[in-house]
Amino acid sequence: MNLSFIPDSTLLMGPGPSPVQTSVLSAMAQPTIGHLDSQCFSLMTEIKEMLQELFQTKNSLTLPLSGPGSAGMEACVTNLVEPNEKVIVCINGVFGQRISECVRKVGGEVVELHSHWGRPTDPEILRKTLAEHSDITSLCFVHGETSTGVLNDAQTLCSIANEFNILTIVDAVTSLGGVEVKVDEWKIDAIFSGSQKCLSCPPGLSPISLSERAVAKINQRKSTIPSWFLDLSMISEYWDISSRTYHHTAPVNALYGLHQGLSNVLKEGSQKLFTRHGECYEVLASGLHSMGMELLVDKESRLPQLTTVKIPEHVDDQLFRRLLLERYNIEIGGGIGELAGKVWRIGLMGNGARKEHVTCLLDAMSSILVR
Ligand SMILES: *Cc1c(COP(=O)(O)O)cnc(C)c1O
Repeated sequence: MNLSFIPDSTLLMGPGPSPVQTSVLSAMAQPTIGHLDSQCFSLMTEIKEMLQELFQTKNSLTLPLSGPGSAGMEACVTNLVEPNEKVIVCINGVFGQRISECVRKVGGEVVELHSHWGRPTDPEILRKTLAEHSDITSLCFVHGETSTGVLNDAQTLCSIANEFNILTIVDAVTSLGGVEVKVDEWKIDAIFSGSQKCLSCPPGLSPISLSERAVAKINQRKSTIPSWFLDLSMISEYWDISSRTYHHTAPVNALYGLHQGLSNVLKEGSQKLFTRHGECYEVLASGLHSMGMELLVDKESRLPQLTTVKIPEHVDDQLFRRLLLERYNIEIGGGIGELAGKVWRIGLMGNGARKEHVTCLLDAMSSILVR
């Protein structure tokens, strides 16, 4: 056994985690303080304010959950869906499927609206389906589907949900920080994200935000929330300045990292950030095309921070990715679910979205393919 663990440094260009900046890693190496220390409360207040800015919301229930993106997903569903409630879930990839499973696990009845993996959810089909089921209470969908590289039209889907006066639960794990997300303007009721995608922090925290309407729904539940750890009414008492009631020991060093990561993002500014992601994707897409490769998703619905490219015929998926990692220290993702073995997933997320990284990757890919 080694007495210390020191990993090789790898350029992370997969579906997350993304490359973490030194400033974030240094912030996390600061001395640990108590989770009920007043300094910790100041840190929490600042994180909450920065998250509100990033989510573009005034929602007071805005905080990072202690857990990965899936914890944010499970928390939103567990708190907002009661047993036997009917919920519509748009599915065009692995993460839409995961939401549907979460809804079933809390006893919800799911109406699944499937679209082809690689195409966005069609708003008209959503409208038609909602018109056929008058008893649906919530709409769930994935904004940026990381398993396929599709960007669903969150604004339009939410506006349709609004026509039917139902709640919206949105997975913004990959979209937040890479493309526009406007919680208040789009009338999103519950949204969750992850620290390790476009926020370029290590994995383990899930920023969430709930509207007043969502909070009211939780307060009016007929059944108890079937989870202790993810009960948002208790977690929000720890995050509420006026109560600060102990719930669980907050991962303070991870919060230092998130604080630094959010500062970095807000300092750059969202417009610059989105432009940087868009430009890097353009360079990547044209490089892949010139190597004769084909992208899975049509141009109009591509997610700039995650590109899915079809694996060329006669290329061994596993061997290719192993060579990329062993010879060039670059990690990209393989396909998952229906797309396993069919595509590669190239992430340009947060700090990973740099033209020099794209060039590095394209050079490495073409060297391996030539062999
Ligand atoms: C990564 C991801 C998740 C899950 O996040 P974890 O941190 O792995 O739990 C959920 N939804 C989407 C769209 C993702 O990209």
